[in-house]
Amino acid sequence: MTAPAPAENARVARPAILTVDDDPSVSRAVARDLRRQYGERYRIVRAESAGQALDALKEIKLRGEEVAALLADYRMPQMDGVEFLEQALDLFPLARRVLLTAYADTDAAIRAINDVDVDHYLLKPWDPPEEKLYPVLDGLLELWASVDHRQDRWIRVVGHRWSARSYEVRDFLARNSVPYRWHLAEDPEGARLLAAAGEDGSRLPVVVAPDGEALVEPTDADLAAKVGLNTAPSTDFYDLVVVGGGPAGLGAAVYGGSEGLRTVLVERIATGGQAGQSSRIENYLGFPDGVSGSQLTDRARRQALKFDVELLTARDVTGLEQRGSARVVHFADGAELAAHTVILATGVSYRMLDAPGLADLSGRGVYYGAATTEGPNCAGKDVYIVGGANSAGQAAMYFSRHARKVVLVVRADSLERSMSRYLIDQLAGQHNIEVRTCTQIVGGSGDDHLETLTLRSTVDGSTETVKASWLFVFIGGAPRTDWLDGVLTRDHRGFVIAGPDLVIDGKRPPGWDLDRDPYHLETSVPGVFVAGDVRAESVKRVASAVGEGAMAVTLVHRYLEKL
Ligand SMILES: Cc1cc2nc3c(=O)[nH]c(=O)nc-3n(C[C@H](O)[C@H](O)[C@H](O)COP(=O)(O)OP(=O)(O)OC[C@H]3O[C@@H](n4cnc5c(N)ncnc54)[C@H](O)[C@@H]3O)c2cc1C
Repeated sequence: MTAPAPAENARVARPAILTVDDDPSVSRAVARDLRRQYGERYRIVRAESAGQALDALKEIKLRGEEVAALLADYRMPQMDGVEFLEQALDLFPLARRVLLTAYADTDAAIRAINDVDVDHYLLKPWDPPEEKLYPVLDGLLELWASVDHRQDRWIRVVGHRWSARSYEVRDFLARNSVPYRWHLAEDPEGARLLAAAGEDGSRLPVVVAPDGEALVEPTDADLAAKVGLNTAPSTDFYDLVVVGGGPAGLGAAVYGGSEGLRTVLVERIATGGQAGQSSRIENYLGFPDGVSGSQLTDRARRQALKFDVELLTARDVTGLEQRGSARVVHFADGAELAAHTVILATGVSYRMLDAPGLADLSGRGVYYGAATTEGPNCAGKDVYIVGGANSAGQAAMYFSRHARKVVLVVRADSLERSMSRYLIDQLAGQHNIEVRTCTQIVGGSGDDHLETLTLRSTVDGSTETVKASWLFVFIGGAPRTDWLDGVLTRDHRGFVIAGPDLVIDGKRPPGWDLDRDPYHLETSVPGVFVAGDVRAESVKRVASAVGEGAMAVTLVHRYLEKL
């Protein structure tokens, strides 16, 4: 391990970049490349075994200093790179993570994504570093620097374990990549924070900001404002307003921004949409080993910002209006935003499980979607997941890392028709996952939180009541487009109809006053386009959503040329 030079100790501590490789010559070469590019701003710490590297990290921790990035070789004796990163993250959870391998090692990459949500997977050697190493690290260091990594500067959330709103607040912060600490109200630290805030625990959650301000039962907008998320547009007229920040919206925003359109994206909760909640997306082009939803979102968000797109979070669009040649979107709080064009990319929201007793337990043991914030809380417990599609399969894999046992409840008699083969194989290979086909959840009960579930066999109708504290529901989605009622044409399920599908028997949609047919992704309102899952007949996939976002921007240009 390289001891820090005395002169280095004397300076104000720079954050460290730690690299560990058991081959001394490689280790030295990595450190040399890092020092050349980052030595001014970061302290480069080099180790030749995982144990040595962990000792160095503990020392850095004790000195109250920071680690910005960890580069670990995969194949090391005693402890491999993934195990090392896992332990290192306990000490420095916000450090960016890179795994190094000598050749493409798919198993290592998959483990790294699953276990430590690795940021990057680099093949050695990376000559020239200017092309292969520095661009990767530049992005990661920028990301690290954008977060306030000092733990004493983290937000603290005090609440009840089984409180729906406490869960929503943590989910909101996690999905927006805001680091926080979670304290139960009855724990000593939680009680201390409540006392300091002058609260007796009857109004929860309480969110304590680093500046000491306590937000009692905050709304998402309160939280967004407090943690510095952008909620207000910088101007009131744009070329393009994108509504929804999932893959389709982010795709549209990146293309819009990169092609010079003044673009603003408005997102209700957190960018990433459904994809942002996926623990591992395996079929998106360019990520042969998969990518977690949060990584993909992170990158897309940065890409949009790079092209000067404004990203507004925690703003719910509740209305759309044509005002002359302008298209105006209305917000829940009465504010509005105008543009030449709009792309609707509002996706779908989870369908609720309609079984007696479950509605009241939402957020208190019953969760819609991956709810990965709950993973560690399920440690050693039994988890039920309902659904037969890939999203349910991914969740089962994710929770099997924490739970004692995961039961996947599937109504059909097999997974073959609804889930990808690779996931079915992964489920079969996981010892603590049980797949219960021909089974429905028909009820649930619990006082404060979920305590039992009633399962019904679709074969003979017999029922069984099981003890359960955790249920995650993945039974598909439905668009939430009521606010577009009477404004543009939707199908009977609420999906937005576009392009050729609007022209029936040669007739253009009612109110259409242009002497051309609607462009491919154009809705029944000229200049308003739709992309992704919310479009009728769309393919519900990340790639198609991104593709439609990009294509919608091309059509926006065509529309603007003729304006
Ligand atoms: C857990 C899970 C795993 C998945 N895994 C895969 C996979 O491995 N591969 C794959 O190809 N697909 C996968 N999918 C499907 C894929 O994620 C979706 O097809 C894709 O996210 C659709 O993108 P979208 O942008 O159209 O919509 P969404 O992702 O649904 O995003 C829509 C966004 O719009 C916002 N919004 C909605 N209404 C408003 C409003 N009125 N105002 C402001 N904002 C609003 C929402 O909050 C949301 O963020 C998965 C889905 C889930 C749930």
